[in-house]
Amino acid sequence: MGSPLTVLPHSGRDASEPQGSSEVPEPWREDARATIRTLAELERVLRLSDEERAGIEACARAGLPLAITPHYLSLCDPHDPSCPIRRQCVPSSREQHVAKGELLDPLGEETYTVAPHLVSRYPDRALLLVTDRCALYCRFCTRSRLVGQGSGAVRLQELEPAFAWLDAHQEVRELIVSGGEPLLMSESRLDALFAALAERPHLDDVRVASRLPVTLPSRITPALCRSLRRLPSLWLMTHFNHPKEICSASARACAQLVDAGIPILNHTVLMQGINDDPDTLTALFRGLVRMRVKPYYLLQGDVIVGSSHFRTPLEHGLQLMETLQGRLSGIALPKFVVDTPGGAGKVPLEPRYLERSESGQHTLRTFRGERVTYPDP
Ligand code: SF4
Repeated sequence: MGSPLTVLPHSGRDASEPQGSSEVPEPWREDARATIRTLAELERVLRLSDEERAGIEACARAGLPLAITPHYLSLCDPHDPSCPIRRQCVPSSREQHVAKGELLDPLGEETYTVAPHLVSRYPDRALLLVTDRCALYCRFCTRSRLVGQGSGAVRLQELEPAFAWLDAHQEVRELIVSGGEPLLMSESRLDALFAALAERPHLDDVRVASRLPVTLPSRITPALCRSLRRLPSLWLMTHFNHPKEICSASARACAQLVDAGIPILNHTVLMQGINDDPDTLTALFRGLVRMRVKPYYLLQGDVIVGSSHFRTPLEHGLQLMETLQGRLSGIALPKFVVDTPGGAGKVPLEPRYLERSESGQHTLRTFRGERVTYPDP
């Protein structure tokens, strides 16, 4: 019997083809090259507030760089600094404020690093960080301590210790490939990486994390889909935060992936003033389902340094989930999750629907607020 990760035959170009060797430049590379990276470039297209200008100047000196793709920029309101798309990508001076309890490495990934570029926080999963590059640097990034530092894609040889660790830990069943943006790597690099993963038959599935359907949708090409299909048990985890991010280009990108047989999950980070109201989340989750993308997690903001202007009170997230429970079916409703500071793992949170249990009689509160008794057998 073949392993779950058997590599499918490659029905495209030669996997050894070096990056950028095609005669006609691929449109996504042109889009990536047009990324805005400086204050001067951004000022030409957006009317910046003082807070934004100070934020850009600060990040030019240190920290998470500025990078905004032309596609994502086209979704921003050029006149409104409170635009929910703009706030996700334009630096703000508020990033310089470090609130109590905030951490450089909020999920303790350094502590749980088991080999270079490999993190293991759960018995059955591991996280492989294959690049520090992103198309766009999200201002709330959990890995702001390491993305955009200029190292680029990790060479396959450098991942050998990580592969050796995986070989010695057959209990690991799922590998999350993240970064940075793994899908900014060339197809030939991805093919080589997937071939190496296919040699680890104890992996039931590989989850590739990518925000490119949202930030650089032109990257989703037939050639990329063919590379992803080489691992038949590959899932894509993408990251839409707002219904404005659902547009013809991102819908086309998701359709290509799903039509190629790649299931897509989405995680959304709950953020103050961006998506922390029931109408925005309802529109977002319904829009995702229409694109055949499953809303998987609604994440409470991680305690990242300089993120207090994004984070919402925990109780607010629970209230939102309660409202959404009455509005959305299970296919559209994600789990509300807190990734605990320090790396102790994710904790799912639910509004309290079981109000009382006594002598085998349970009082349940429905989404309409009715109390219903459920008797045990
Ligand atoms: S795409 Fe992901 S890894 Fe890159 S900056 Fe955004 S949240 Fe961070």
